[in-house]
Amino acid sequence: KTAKASGDRYAFYAPRMTESSAGTLTLENQLRQALEKEQFVLHFQPKMNLASGGLTGAEALIRWNDPATGLVPPGRFIPILEETGLIHEVGRWALHKAIAEYLHWRAARRAAVRVSVNVSPRQLRDRGFVRDIRNAIDVDPHAAAGLELEITESLIMEDVKNSIASLQAIREMGVTIAIDDFGTGFSSLSYLSKLPVDTLKIDRSFVVDMTTGPQGLSLVSTIITLAHSLKLCVVAEGVETAMQSRLLHDLRCDEIQGYLYGKPVPSAEFEARYLLP
Ligand code: C2E
Ligand code: MG
Ligand code: MG
Ligand code: MG
Repeated sequence: KTAKASGDRYAFYAPRMTESSAGTLTLENQLRQALEKEQFVLHFQPKMNLASGGLTGAEALIRWNDPATGLVPPGRFIPILEETGLIHEVGRWALHKAIAEYLHWRAARRAAVRVSVNVSPRQLRDRGFVRDIRNAIDVDPHAAAGLELEITESLIMEDVKNSIASLQAIREMGVTIAIDDFGTGFSSLSYLSKLPVDTLKIDRSFVVDMTTGPQGLSLVSTIITLAHSLKLCVVAEGVETAMQSRLLHDLRCDEIQGYLYGKPVPSAEFEARYLLP
């Protein structure tokens, strides 16, 4: 009976597994081609200072412009880039591209609008990562001061000792570090105070919960107080409503990012909308 049951299970799963591994292979090849054909694009989402209402910077968010299907969101291909190791090359591309845009904005506007680039687990773990950052900022003396790296909390916690060493080396170059999706990674408070970081980004899920009950609001309030006591700048992610923005302002959150202020847009649109006026 047991043998038959597992036989059935095998028969049920086998075709699916074949299909999905073939599917993954095709996607992998498509992504390799995407890199060669320069089909990756960065969109930029603005961040706003809550006290002044001014633009402070933009987060670079990658998309794949697939000629067959159109823009593909990162959640659909970053995991495959990670598995295949292509993330190193794509990550370096994103870094160079984001810095080039920053330098262009800087020349056009002469203002302190910085750019943030997301870093994925395999990149941070790579021995060459610090060197990649060094190479990327070496293009211009102003590049380091304009760059921020966003690293998820869970990623730092995976390998605290090595992460701290890499982040410290990068910060010494003048690049700042933000903890992304804060609150989802369960890091202990004792670690948080030891991490060489500048900014804490409160995950969107906490921003959503802020208006759905009293606990949600006090949780965000606590995170902001904690961050400020550690001298960190606080950014709230995924702010969609004026109500959320007002509450965050009252809680002395430093910056907001979200559809309320602006969705991620192509660089030309970002420039026209936020830098030229
Ligand atoms: P993330 O870094 O936490 O980026 C925020 C995500 O929330 C983005 O999704 C953004 O479009 C979305 N978002 C922003 N404001 C709002 C809002 O008000 N409401 C809602 N519902 N969503 C909002 P996106 O662009 O799909 O990126 C997803 C994730 O992919 C990012 O999460 C980041 O972890 C990763 N990612 C994006 N670009 C890169 C990249 O160049 N390299 C790496 N390694 N990861 C990237
Ligand atoms: Mg991010
Ligand atoms: Mg985030
Ligand atoms: Mg997030």
